[in-house]
Amino acid sequence: MMDQNAQILTPPSEPREFGFFMEGSWVPAGDRDLFERSSPGHGVPVTRIPRCTEDDLNTIVASARTAFDDRRWCGLSGADRAAVLLKAAELIRQRTDEIAYWETLENGKPISQARGEVSGCVGMFEFAAGLARALHGDSFNNSGDGAMGIVTREPVGVVGLITPWNFPFLILCERVPYILASGCTIVAKPSEVTSATTLLLAEILSEAGLPDGVFNVVTGSGSVIGQKLAEHMDVDMLSFTGSTAVGRSVVAASGQSNFKKLGLELGGKNPQIVFADADLEDAADGVAFGIAFNTGQCCVSGARLLVERSVAEKFAGMVADKLRKVRVGDPLDERTQAGAITTDAQNRTILSYIAKGQEEGATLLIGGGTPEIAGGQYIDPVIFTNATNDMAIAREEIFGPVLVVIPFDTIDEAISIANDTEYGLAASVWTKNIDKALTISRRVQAGRFWVNTTLAGGPELPIGGFKASGWGREAGMHGVEEYTQIKSIHVEIGKRSHWVE
Ligand code: NDP
Repeated sequence: MMDQNAQILTPPSEPREFGFFMEGSWVPAGDRDLFERSSPGHGVPVTRIPRCTEDDLNTIVASARTAFDDRRWCGLSGADRAAVLLKAAELIRQRTDEIAYWETLENGKPISQARGEVSGCVGMFEFAAGLARALHGDSFNNSGDGAMGIVTREPVGVVGLITPWNFPFLILCERVPYILASGCTIVAKPSEVTSATTLLLAEILSEAGLPDGVFNVVTGSGSVIGQKLAEHMDVDMLSFTGSTAVGRSVVAASGQSNFKKLGLELGGKNPQIVFADADLEDAADGVAFGIAFNTGQCCVSGARLLVERSVAEKFAGMVADKLRKVRVGDPLDERTQAGAITTDAQNRTILSYIAKGQEEGATLLIGGGTPEIAGGQYIDPVIFTNATNDMAIAREEIFGPVLVVIPFDTIDEAISIANDTEYGLAASVWTKNIDKALTISRRVQAGRFWVNTTLAGGPELPIGGFKASGWGREAGMHGVEEYTQIKSIHVEIGKRSHWVE
């Protein structure tokens, strides 16, 4: 087990077995199949999670439905909901090391990064607590003395929440406190390979005083349980984060069932635009961070480096120097900056794109090695130069530490290459010229934009994408409003003027 005092943590000697979570309690696996998860950083089993059945899913959704319909949560004041969210923030803070440990074991990310993410999640709960009290509608006092118009926001109902394996706890917490602030109830379905920290959050919320049935976790695979959740007639809204391909199937499932409202955060192929007048030292560090952070398994990774031609070669060399120094290593080692690749399938995908880039004629400037570390799966960060934006490595989401360098000559050309993608999730610009920064930020199609930085943000700022990167926004006040629907109330004042004399 985890020794909190040890310098380098070790995986558990036995995998930890979890139940799933409903009605405020753990449900042990019983005779259900168990999925055994091995740490991608160490190759040893670390958790066992039940594979819920369709009957389990129906029972869980029914519990979330009852908890919504009897108003045990949405009927509370915003202040009472805020109190629960603040208490949850405090409990997450207290359990940071434990959450980070299981996150690292199942995901392969560095332990120091996992701890930082959990701390960020505390802020999400604290900020959303304020929003539970700030959420409001509108009124029209300008319809004459005989009428008044009131526009209210109501929670949308039971929300299905399907989350991926790249940031299991962070992505969860970019949604859960905001959804709870709105008054909705939740059935969460984490990725089967990274379920542990979602289950820990369920325990924390219960301890924080969240009424039973308001936050539930169904475990199992996406193709079985995720699909059934997307099709479920009693789920009013589904928030899905993951691949564009499954995003399409979720849209179809909604259309073929009850037209549930959808929030989708899908793929990206995000440009980092670097001008010759940038602080190139800062930009090189930011670009290296933008592609190697979370081993590039990040929907907002800066995977395309668009760089002004006059400095392209020099700048690629500067980024290469940075990436060579990134400490790829055992995720449980405090010094590690880039950990393991999370799934076997993702590992194969990344390696196949590294081969494909070379077949397409791009130059592999650095990286692509697969170092033997701690029994896990690792890939050294890659830079491809001599690439064009029509190559597969520049068009398709690789979801790994693979940077593709494409030179440009003018602002218009940079904007045109940046937008020449089906996606529109995020973009960065690096320049000391305010005109260029604002022109680029206005014309590049992306839901998140960074100037002289990357992968930055906080609980106040909404996240989501343009184009095939998704629908809707999470986090910030927009992330609460997404989980509401609007009702117009027209009130007549005084004696009605009759239609029939
Ligand atoms: P998926 O889209 O398959 O997985 C994301 C989530 O959806 C997981 O919880 C998964 O469950 C679930 N899921 C899978 N199939 C269905 C379905 N039919 N109906 C409902 N839910 C489903 O992504 P992958 O794990 O296969 O990764 C593939 C690629 O997707 C990556 O290479 C990357 O390009 C992209 N991706 C993008 C992410 C983002 O943040 N935008 C996050 C993850 C992946 P389970 O894992 O249990 O099968």
